[in-house]
Order: sequence, then structure tokens, then C-alpha cells
Amino acid sequence: MKLRRLWSLFAACGVAAYAHAAGPVLVIHGGAGVLRRDMPPAREKAIRAALTQALEAGYAELKAGKPSVDAVTASLTVLEDDPLFNAGRGSVFTHDGTLEMDAAIMDGYTLRAGSVAAVSDVKNPILLARAVMEHTPHVMLVGAGAEAFAQAQGIARAKPEYFRTEERWQQLQRALKEDAADHPHADDDAVRHFGTVGAVALDVHGHLAAGTSTGGMNDKMPGRVGDSPIIGAGTYANAGCAVSGTGWGEFYMRTVAAHAICTRVTQLRMPIARAAAEVINQDIPAMGGSGGAIALDDQGHIAIPFNTHGMFRGWIDGAGKPHVAIYGDEDDGTGELLPAPAPDDAASGP
Ligand code: ASP
Repeated sequence: MKLRRLWSLFAACGVAAYAHAAGPVLVIHGGAGVLRRDMPPAREKAIRAALTQALEAGYAELKAGKPSVDAVTASLTVLEDDPLFNAGRGSVFTHDGTLEMDAAIMDGYTLRAGSVAAVSDVKNPILLARAVMEHTPHVMLVGAGAEAFAQAQGIARAKPEYFRTEERWQQLQRALKEDAADHPHADDDAVRHFGTVGAVALDVHGHLAAGTSTGGMNDKMPGRVGDSPIIGAGTYANAGCAVSGTGWGEFYMRTVAAHAICTRVTQLRMPIARAAAEVINQDIPAMGGSGGAIALDDQGHIAIPFNTHGMFRGWIDGAGKPHVAIYGDEDDGTGELLPAPAPDDAASGP
């Protein structure tokens, strides 16, 4: 099937829009806020490879005729296991040097959802969120209760050393130093949020699902819960639309971002590219927030808006080919247009 290009450019910020013929579609992200100057070539290569692997894992499920929730789960477990991303292994630390991970999954066909927040020893929080969806009458479990449920379900847990990476630890030390000096973080995008993972999928039956997993924001207060596990804020799916967000979570919660996008699509009949751009590139920056999202409709239209310098992202086109991209001005070599450069992107330099 040929990938048909539908490209819309919105002033100042970018949004890519693609249309696929009916068939399975998968879109993933590995977080917004990446800067070129923080990306040595070897790291960039490893991230592109990890995104590709996550796409392949999710797409294998879709091609086998499995439901979109299986594809979302498969892609996200790959990214959670990879210490390059801020989810599962490699999660950022709280102000106190502890780990508190959040995750959510939503099945757009049944409108069932499951989420977990502030779990510290669950290897794959997305699997626990899915178990909440499938094996409890609840939508959200937090902290010790969520961990006890993981134990009861036989979901793998791990010691703090498993999750800890030196890079995340140093990221916290930098933030603590800036806190102590009582001056704002030198570069909020780089220090605060980076590497959350998300996936949205459309299966062969035309059913959508969305999922998101994160360690949250570096140096967050212990007990802080972000948007990712809040249904409607960082994660949402219904019959016509699926969204996973990444960025400064408080703004996604205050705009109920994922639901706001889907409401525009399913109730106002707005094209998904415009709906996603309005929320991500207008409403959130207008309040002082930043970030991006992946959005997918039931016709296979994709939108990937972001208002940061870059966003780790990938998608499988109608021909089953994986694409990955990082920066705002990037051409992935397919001839398809990618999001326009965010303001100042050129200035960030390689
Ligand atoms: N949205 C996440 C949070 O606020 C962070 C991120 O996406 O990077 O917890």
C-alpha cells in the first residue's frame, strides 16, 4: 500500500500528518525535549535502533492480527527495558533519589483503561497497567497497593540497581545543584523531561489503543504523579482517536490534552492533524507548557506535533516500513515531510 502524504504546516510549530490506506498502523514516541547538542552520534544511533526495534515488536503483533493493545504493550515493553529511555529501566529520579514510575493503557474499542502511578520496583509498569485494566474493576492503582497487585499477578519486579543509570543519577545531581543555587534550571527541556515512551496503534479490525510509560520528571517531588497515567491527560483512546503525550505533565493535566485532541476529532470532526496541533502547539504553549504527542485516527491518519526542539518518534507506514526521526527539521530519507523546525532549533546546533 502506498503511503499517501497529507501535509499540513502550522505557523511557528510543526505537525506532520500522514494518511494510510486501511491496514494496521503503529506510531511510537520516546519523549520530547531532545536537543541536538546533547546527542553524541553513538547515542543517536542507539536510540534510532531502539525505536526501530520497538516498532518491529509492535508491528509483529498487528500483522499477526492481534489487537492494538497487544501492539502497544509490545512496543512499550521494549522501550521500558532500554535504559536510554525514561521509563522502566533508565527512569529519572525524584528529588530524594528514589524512583516512582507511572504508566497507562487504554483500549479505544471497549473504552477500558488501566493505569499505575508511583511504582518503584515493577520492571515493566505498562504490563501492570494492563493487568489493572484486565484483572481489576478499577482504572488506577498507586504505590504500595499497585506493587502488591504486581506481586499477586506474578508481574516481574526488580531491585533499585536494575533501574538506576549513571546518566540519570548525574541528571538529578545537576538539577539538585541548580535547586541549591536557587536559580531556574538552565535548560528546562533537557533537565526536566526527556525520554517518556508512548505508543498508539490501529489494528486490522480498525480498533485503536494508546499507552504511555514514564519515570516522570527529573527531580520531581516524591509523590508527584504526572499526566502519563491520567486517562485523558497523557493517554487516551476511543473508537475514533488514540493519543499518547509527552512533555511537561502538569500542562497536559490542566488541558486534559489527550482527551481534548480526541474530542475535537470524534465530536467536532476535526482532522487529527489540526486537533493535535491546536492542543499541543497552541493551548499548551499558551499556558507556558511544552512537549509533544502522537495521535492516530481510525482511518490511519497520523499526527506528531511537538513544540520542543526534537522528539524521539517512529511510525510504520502503509507498506510496513519503519521510520524514525528525532529533530524538528529532519527528513527521514523517504521523501515524506516531517515536522517543521521548532523555533530556535537551528540555533541549538549539532
Ligand atoms: N509527561 C511526563 C510527566 O510529566 C514527562 C515526559 O513526558 O517526559 O511525567
